[in-house]
Amino acid sequence: MAIERISLRSLITGLLVAVVLITVIHTIVAKYQFRRAALDYRIQSLSRVIEVAAQEVLRQARGRAVALGGSLQQRLILSDAASLGLQLDEPFSKGYVEAGYLDLVQLRLYDPQLHLLAASGPHTVPPLPAMLAAQVRERQGVDRFKAAGGLWHAAHGPYYSVLVPVGGLHLDGHLEIVFNPLFNLRGVGEMIHMPFGIQGAEGEELLPPDGIGTDAARYAAVEYSLRGLDGTTALRLVAYEDVDLLYKDMHRTQIVTSLSFFGLTGALLALALWLLNRHLFQPVHWMIGEMEHTLRDAENTLVTRRGIKEVHVVAAAFNAMTARVREIIGELHRLSALDGLTGIANRRAFNQALEREWLRAKRKQAAISLLLVDVDYFKQYNDCYGHQAGDDCLRNIANAMSLAVQRPTDLVARYGGEEFVVLLPDTDATGAGRVAEKLQRTMAALAIPHQASATRDIVSMSIGVCTMTPGKGVSSQRLVACADRALYRAKALGRNRIEFTREEDLAAPAAADA
Ligand code: GH3
Ligand code: MG
Ligand code: MG
Repeated sequence: MAIERISLRSLITGLLVAVVLITVIHTIVAKYQFRRAALDYRIQSLSRVIEVAAQEVLRQARGRAVALGGSLQQRLILSDAASLGLQLDEPFSKGYVEAGYLDLVQLRLYDPQLHLLAASGPHTVPPLPAMLAAQVRERQGVDRFKAAGGLWHAAHGPYYSVLVPVGGLHLDGHLEIVFNPLFNLRGVGEMIHMPFGIQGAEGEELLPPDGIGTDAARYAAVEYSLRGLDGTTALRLVAYEDVDLLYKDMHRTQIVTSLSFFGLTGALLALALWLLNRHLFQPVHWMIGEMEHTLRDAENTLVTRRGIKEVHVVAAAFNAMTARVREIIGELHRLSALDGLTGIANRRAFNQALEREWLRAKRKQAAISLLLVDVDYFKQYNDCYGHQAGDDCLRNIANAMSLAVQRPTDLVARYGGEEFVVLLPDTDATGAGRVAEKLQRTMAALAIPHQASATRDIVSMSIGVCTMTPGKGVSSQRLVACADRALYRAKALGRNRIEFTREEDLAAPAAADA
């Protein structure tokens, strides 16, 4: 389609609709990307939450183990080597202060070089992990009196060992408190409030997740690996994110976001359309209408300046251009009504004035007179003085005639060559005769020398006068013919004179006048 056939309104409306469509498509596409990103982010942050919760749980458990170790080592009688095993069994048989907070597995006693001295029974926990032993042996100075410990795992399951120095400032040995970390770690599930399970290093189920049931497909597993003393994965803590619920939440958020987004966009688009309509489309529409109106009729109409800046500028430019065109047309009109040589009205202007005044006289039934003026022996004047002088002479005559005629409705025009007409509306034969006489006197007063004239030695003129009251069906040309008849007679009777013709004389042949 050609661009000039598309209106500004359809163009902008089309663009706005395209913006809406693109926004809708973009929102739909973004929905899936947003979903994926949100799930990834959720899993990431959940994994971090599990980590923080697990570290906290183990920190507390370790603290309790250290406290337990502290209270036990004070009661130990190391000198009684034979009963050490029994002494270590005591907490299991009689109960211990941290019961309920720790799942105590075994207590073991070592000499300062970490050789096993005694252990509580009947559990057979694998020997002290080499990493922990190395850690304790490598310590120097006051560090040797601090507790050490960590998570480790063996074929039977995970353990957490804490080594508490025994014997105060004189280091007599180490008491190892071994507890089951699963007992404490199950608390992570309570902290994060979602299905939670614990797996071993190889993925074997140690604490099955609760609350998942058969509906496992709707959950996404979020795993955090808990590392042991040797740096390898000791436990896998797995939380189960309810993806359905997450998606439902996201869906709800998305609907609210999308609705408010579309609402806002729609409101903005509506506002934009309203503003454009009010300040651009409508003003342009009105302006076009006014321009067409201005073009159709030449009245002094202008385009109203309203709407946005551009419309104002265009309207102002159009008005300025229209004013200029009117000015030029006026000037052309004026020029087209004037005679080029003499500057007085030309024959065209005379014909229009004659027609107008003839109709007016007809309506009012008033007299109208016409003087047909012809310069005498003007051919000879040209021959004698030259064409240039002839032109000057005609200009002088025209000027003098114009000054001699007084009423604003009177019109002096150049009829052609050295012939002039004087139209006198509302003037009877007497008045017309007076004007003709005045013209003769003016001519005499001008006294332009004319040696070649057969009548006088100055330029003279012959005037034919006719006065009529326009009758029904009589054209204005009859007045011209009538004056022409009088002029012919004036020429024939010797020139430099005024002759009158009455309407009724017209019927008679011209020759009879002579
Ligand atoms: P008559 O007394 O019978 O009117 O004689 P005439 O010589 O005036 O009349 P004719 O019609 O024979 O000649 C008119 C002359 O007017 C012819 C031409 O040389 C002269 N003429 C017409 N128009 C102009 C003009 O614009 N400038 C000049 N200089 N002469 C013109
Ligand atoms: Mg002539
Ligand atoms: Mg003449």
